[in-house]
Amino acid sequence: MERATLLRSLSCSSISGSRLFSFRSSHRLARFLSSSSSSPRNLHRRLNPNVSSRSLLRRRWRLLPASSSSSSLRFSRDFSILAPRAVASPLSQSTPEFSGAQDEVAEKLGFEKVSEQFIGECKSKAELFRHKKTGAEVMSVSNDDENKVFGIVFRTPPKDSTGIPHILEHSVLCGSRKYPLKEPFVELLKGSLNTFLNAFTYPDRTCYPVASTNTKDFYNLVDVYLDAVFFPKCLEDFQTFQQEGWHYELNNPSEEISYKGVVFNEMKGVYSQPDNILGRTAQQALFPDNTYGVDSGGDPQVIPKLTFEEFKEFHRKYYHPSNARIWFYGDDDPNERLCILSEYLDIFDASSAPSESKIEPQKLFSEPVRIIEKYPAGEGGDLKKKNMVCLNWLLSDKPLDLETELTLGFLDHLMLGTPASPLRKILLESGLGDAIVGGGIEDELLQPQFSIGLKGVSEDDIKKVEELVISTLKKLAEEGFDTDAVEASMNTIEFSLRENNTGSFPRGLSLMLRSIGKWIYDMDPFEPLKYEEPLKALKARMAEEGSKAVFSPLIEKYILNNPHRVTVEMQPDPEKASRDEATEKEVLAKVRESMTEEDLAELARATEELRLKQETPDPPEALKSVPSLSLKDIPKEPTYVPTEIGDINGVKVLKHDLFTNDVLYTEVVFNMSSLKQELLPLVPLFCQSLLEMGTKDLTFVQLNQLIGRKTGGISVYPFTSSARGKEDPCSHIIVRGKAMAGHAEDLFNLVNCVLQEVQFTDQQRFKQFVSQSKARMENRLRGSGHGIAASRMDAKLNVAGWISEQMGGVSYLEFLKELEEKVDQDWDGVSSSLEEIRKCLLSRNSCLVNMTADGKNLADSEKFVNKFLDLLPSNSPFKASTWNARLSSANEAIVIPTQVNYVGKAANIYDTGYQLKGSAYVISKYISNTWLWDRVRVSGGAYGGFCDFDTHSGVFSFLSYRDPNLLKTLNVYDGSGEFLRQLEMDDDTLTKAIIGTIGDVDSYQLPDAKGYSSLLRHLLGVTDEERQKRREEILSTSLKDFKEFADAIDAVKDKGVVVAVASLDDVDAAHKECGNFFQVKKAL
Ligand SMILES: [Zn+2]
Repeated sequence: MERATLLRSLSCSSISGSRLFSFRSSHRLARFLSSSSSSPRNLHRRLNPNVSSRSLLRRRWRLLPASSSSSSLRFSRDFSILAPRAVASPLSQSTPEFSGAQDEVAEKLGFEKVSEQFIGECKSKAELFRHKKTGAEVMSVSNDDENKVFGIVFRTPPKDSTGIPHILEHSVLCGSRKYPLKEPFVELLKGSLNTFLNAFTYPDRTCYPVASTNTKDFYNLVDVYLDAVFFPKCLEDFQTFQQEGWHYELNNPSEEISYKGVVFNEMKGVYSQPDNILGRTAQQALFPDNTYGVDSGGDPQVIPKLTFEEFKEFHRKYYHPSNARIWFYGDDDPNERLCILSEYLDIFDASSAPSESKIEPQKLFSEPVRIIEKYPAGEGGDLKKKNMVCLNWLLSDKPLDLETELTLGFLDHLMLGTPASPLRKILLESGLGDAIVGGGIEDELLQPQFSIGLKGVSEDDIKKVEELVISTLKKLAEEGFDTDAVEASMNTIEFSLRENNTGSFPRGLSLMLRSIGKWIYDMDPFEPLKYEEPLKALKARMAEEGSKAVFSPLIEKYILNNPHRVTVEMQPDPEKASRDEATEKEVLAKVRESMTEEDLAELARATEELRLKQETPDPPEALKSVPSLSLKDIPKEPTYVPTEIGDINGVKVLKHDLFTNDVLYTEVVFNMSSLKQELLPLVPLFCQSLLEMGTKDLTFVQLNQLIGRKTGGISVYPFTSSARGKEDPCSHIIVRGKAMAGHAEDLFNLVNCVLQEVQFTDQQRFKQFVSQSKARMENRLRGSGHGIAASRMDAKLNVAGWISEQMGGVSYLEFLKELEEKVDQDWDGVSSSLEEIRKCLLSRNSCLVNMTADGKNLADSEKFVNKFLDLLPSNSPFKASTWNARLSSANEAIVIPTQVNYVGKAANIYDTGYQLKGSAYVISKYISNTWLWDRVRVSGGAYGGFCDFDTHSGVFSFLSYRDPNLLKTLNVYDGSGEFLRQLEMDDDTLTKAIIGTIGDVDSYQLPDAKGYSSLLRHLLGVTDEERQKRREEILSTSLKDFKEFADAIDAVKDKGVVVAVASLDDVDAAHKECGNFFQVKKAL
C-alpha cells in the first residue's frame, strides 16, 4: 500500500532516475526482446477503453521520473529467433509419481499427454496435452509464478482484406452465451484484479490473453474469454457486426449515406499514417502469393465488401478447438486448468480447420521488384524532401533452422542495435534522410524478413540511399565487426534473455508469445523457451572461427545475393486524402441511387435502432452475470518480501533471497543529510557526472562500454521523502546496479569506480549537462505542470518537499539558469562543489547496501561487497546538517505560455489530528474515480483530475491535468468534504472500491521491484506489522469511514495552499474575480 506514495515521493526527487538502465534501451534490442512494445507489422490490438486512460494518467504521473519500468518493459519480448525446428527432446527432470496421478486425471478429462519437459530457463514443468476428441493442443506450464497467464490462440489466415479476423476479434468480446451484456471486456477491466487483459490480431493468428495473480479472479477471466471465443453473441447479432465492422449510416432519408464501424474507422486511421502504409506495402509485396499478401486488419476500401454470412462462416471454421492452441502458465493447479477446458472443448467434434488454416510459404523471386506508392501528405513543407525508401528482403523460402535464426538475431543487433551500430550510424550520419525506417530482421511470421531504409529523403537522393545500404552491407561482409562491439552485443542480448525482466508485463505472456511464434506453424512449442544450449553453441563457434566467419556468409547469402528484394519508394501526395474521400463518396452515392424510398426509410430506421441499442444500459441481471470477487477472496495478508538484515564491515546490509535467474540486483545507499543546504540543487548534476564524465584512465564512452559489457546497467539518483512521525526528512543518494551474479565483482568494482574515480574536470561536458537539464525542466513545466505544482505545494508544506523542489521543481530551474553562467565564470568553484558533495557523501558510516538475488548468489557476492566497503572512506564522522527550509505558504501561480492549466490544492491533514487509517486509500481512490472524474473531467472538460494522499507527510493534494478552468476547479476540490457527507452507496459498490484499492496495493512486482520496495520501506520505517494493519483497515472500510474522512479533507478547503501552473490570461481573470489571490511567478 505504500508503493504508490513512495513512488510519488520519488517522482519529484529523482530526476536522473529516469536514466535508470536507459543506455541499454537501444532501438533494435527493444524490438527483439520486448513483446509488449513491439508489434509485428500490421498487428492490431484492442485498445483498452477510456476507463483505463485515467488510471494510466495517474500512474504515469507517479511513475514517470522514477521508474525503470518503461525501459525494462522493452526487454520483455520473446526472443523468437531462438525458436527451433527440432522435434521435442527427451523428457528430463519430471517427477514420475506426481505426474502419474496427473496423467490419470488428464486422461479422465479427455486429454492425452503428448510430451513433458522441465524448462530450466524458467524453472517450469511444461506439459503438452492434446484434447482427444477435437485435437485442441494445450501447453500447461507449472511453476511458482503467481502471475498466472491464460491465452487461447486461433490460426486465422485471411483470404482478402475485408478485415474479418480483426472485426471478429472485436466482436467476440461483445457479449456471449453466459455473459450476455454489451461489453464484458469493459466490466472485467473495472472490477477484476487482472494484471493483463487484451486481444491481438496478427496477420495469421488471433490471440486472447488474460493474467491475474488471484486464482479465482484468474479462472473468472478464463471463463469469460472461453465463452467469448466459442459462443459469442455476435454470431446471431447483426448489430454487433455493424457496430464493430461496418454499416451504412443514414440519420434521415433526405441526407447522404455514410460508412460507420469501429474497425472501419480504426483502419482509416491506420491507413493515413505513412509508416503503416510503408510496412503494409512492403509486407504485401514480399508475400504476393500467400495470406500475408492481404491485410488481416482490413483495408477501408475493402471492408464494406464483407458480408455477415462470411463473417459467421469465418468464425465457424477457425474459432474451433481443432484450430486452437491454448496456454496456461503459473502456480495454479494444472488439473483445474484441464477441468475448465474440457467443459468447453467436449461440446465440439474434430474439424478440418487445421489443414484449412495452414500457412503456405512464399516462393522466392528470381528478380528484385520495385514498388512506388503514394501516401497522404499535408501541403506544408518541402514535399520534395518527404520521400521514403525502404529495402526489404524475404530471407528464405522456408523457416530457418534454430542456429541460423539465432545468429541472424545477433547480426541484426550488431548492424542496427545501438546508435553506434554501423549500418544505423552510417545511414543517419549520411544526411540523406531524417530517420530510419524498416524494422531490421522480423521473425514473427512463417518466413523471416529484413527491412531497412530512410524517411525524409529528397527525390534526388533515393538512389543514393539504396546504394549506401548495399555498399555498407558489402563493407560489413568484407571487414566484419569490431571485437568490442561483438562482445557488447553478446552481453546485452545474453543479459536480457537471462534477466527476462518484463516489468509489469506478465512473464508468462512473454513466454507464451515466444512459444506460439513457432507452435502456430506446427513446430515444437518447447524449444523457443530454451536458449541456454543454442547460446552456448553460438558462443563456442564464434570463439573458434571468429565473428567474421560466422556473420559474413549470412550477410552474403540472405541479403546481398538474395534476389527476393522489394524496394518500396513512397512519395508524398497532398491530393491522396481528398481523392480517397471522393472515391468513397462516389461509391456511397451509387448505393443511394440504387435504393427505393422504402429502402431509405428502412435504413434510417435501422440506424436509429442501432443507436438506441448502444445507448440502452445493460440490465442489472446481465451486469451480475460477470463474475467478480468478494472480499473473502482477497488475501488477508500483504505480500511479504524475505529480508535479512545483517552487517558487513560495519555497514548494514539488507538481503532479499528471491529467485532472480542468476541476476544480482543491488542498491548502495548514502545518507545525504550531512550535505550543506546550498549544495542540494547540485546533487542531480553530481549524479549525472558520476556516470557521464569519465575517469583518469577511461573516457566516458569507454566507461559506459565497460558498464555495458560487464553489467546490466548502473544508475545514480537522489531519493527524498518525509518519514511519518519524524521531524527530519529521509534523504539519500541511491546507486542502483544489476549484473549476472558471475559478474558481481565487476559490478561492485564499477560502482566503486563511478563513485571514487570519476573526475569532475570536463567543463564542456558539464555545461552540456546543465543545458540539457534546463531544457528538460522547461519541457516538464509545459508537459507535466501537475507534477511541478505538486512539488511546489509539498515544498510549502514540509522540508522533504522543499529538498525535492530544489532538485526538480521551479527552484531547480532557477538554479540551473544561474549555474549556466557560473560554469563559465567560476568552473573551479563548481568543480570543487561537486568534489565536496562526493567527500560528504562517501562514507562507510552513512552507507547501507541492499541486495536481491537467490541465497547462494547473495552469499557468493558478500566478499565483493566487503571489498567495496573497505575502499570507502570511514574517517569522516557522520554529522547531519540542519535543513530547515520551506517555501512561503502563499498561493502561487506559475505562469507559462499555455492554453490549459494545472491546478493544485493541498494541506497536511495530520495537522488536523487525523490519524492514518487504511480506509484513506479506498476513499481517496473513490473520490478520484467519481467526484473528481465527473466534475473536473466530464463536465469540467479537463483531461484529468485526481487526488493523492502522501501517507508519510500527511499531505493530501488535489490536482488537475490539462484543465481549461482555474477557480472553478478549486470549487470542485472544496466540495469534496460535502460530497463524502452526502454519499450513499450499496455494498456492491463499496466492495468494488475496496477490491480496486487492493488491486493497486498488490500490483504485481518482479523480484527486483520487490527487493527495491522493501529497501524503501526500510528507509521510511514502514514495518510489515503496519502493512498488515493497513490492509485490515482497507478490507473493513465502511461508509462511516467515508463520512468521517470528510472532516479531515475539509482541512484542504479551509487551510490548503493553492499552486496553479497556468496561463497569464487565466491568472488575470482569477485576480479580477477574487482580488490578489495568487503570487505570480513567471517561469518561462
Ligand atoms: Zn481494433
